[in-house]
Amino acid sequence: MIKPYLVIALFALLYLNCDAQQRKIIDVHFHTRSAGDYGTPPPPNPVTGKTPDAGTNDAIFRGNFALLKKYNIVKAICSGTLLRNADFISKDPGRFISSLEYPDHQDNPLPDTATFRKLIQEKKFTVFGELGLQYDGKTLDQPEFEPYIAICERYGVPIAIHMGLGPPETPYHGFPNFTVSSGSPFYLEPVLKKHPRLKLQIMHMGYPYIEETKAILYMYPQVYADISVIDWALPKEEFYQYLRAVITAGHEKQIMYGSDQMIWEDAIPLSIKTVEAAPFLNEQQKQDIFYNNAARFYGIK
Ligand SMILES: [Zn+2]
Repeated sequence: MIKPYLVIALFALLYLNCDAQQRKIIDVHFHTRSAGDYGTPPPPNPVTGKTPDAGTNDAIFRGNFALLKKYNIVKAICSGTLLRNADFISKDPGRFISSLEYPDHQDNPLPDTATFRKLIQEKKFTVFGELGLQYDGKTLDQPEFEPYIAICERYGVPIAIHMGLGPPETPYHGFPNFTVSSGSPFYLEPVLKKHPRLKLQIMHMGYPYIEETKAILYMYPQVYADISVIDWALPKEEFYQYLRAVITAGHEKQIMYGSDQMIWEDAIPLSIKTVEAAPFLNEQQKQDIFYNNAARFYGIK
């Protein structure tokens, strides 16, 4: 005869397993890359060493799409060119949300403000980002961005900005104006003071600016942070320590999962597994990070 506690344990195990598999995920930092964006052939994933099958736009889409479906990533905020975003959206309109990346990998200029407003009105994009201003040594509080920020605030378009670091030796390889210091979240404060209704997402959780990130998340609770890149490219213990510091500071409802898979789609499973395995996260916190917080921030029903 099977002991009752064994039956209970078995059901509990099945339930937990089912829960993890069925977990709904929103990836708030997903890129719609084109073939050649990272050179031909593209470099291998710096962590896994796997070279992506990125010879054509179609191959890039297929590789990413299969993983999004496998891991139940029901929404992905697509950062890329509007043309490439439209291509992804045409293949699964319910899953992808268009975000205007700037600067992008095709060297498209920022549209003038009239065109920018029109594109928002036509819903060609509903998020403005990834803003990689740091790669140009620029910051969001510079006057040239002010009219765009005002439009975003008025239309409820969230701004998602790269903050923190970039790959080692970035200033020596194509981005001579890059500075570490321009990645500080403190540059967001003048913008937040001027635009109290603006929705702002700090990408990469501002790593390694932990004090600055905590200060901004505390003072401006409308600001959320994504854990992209640091959830797969950093040494695991370093990521866990950083994530834990933001959680113990009380900001677990402002943290969102993101992959930032760039050209390496294997970053998607890698980052999900790292978060799932975090020993200090309880189930509610995982659900919040993977889905609930992003659903609230982006108004996803
Ligand atoms: Zn970034």
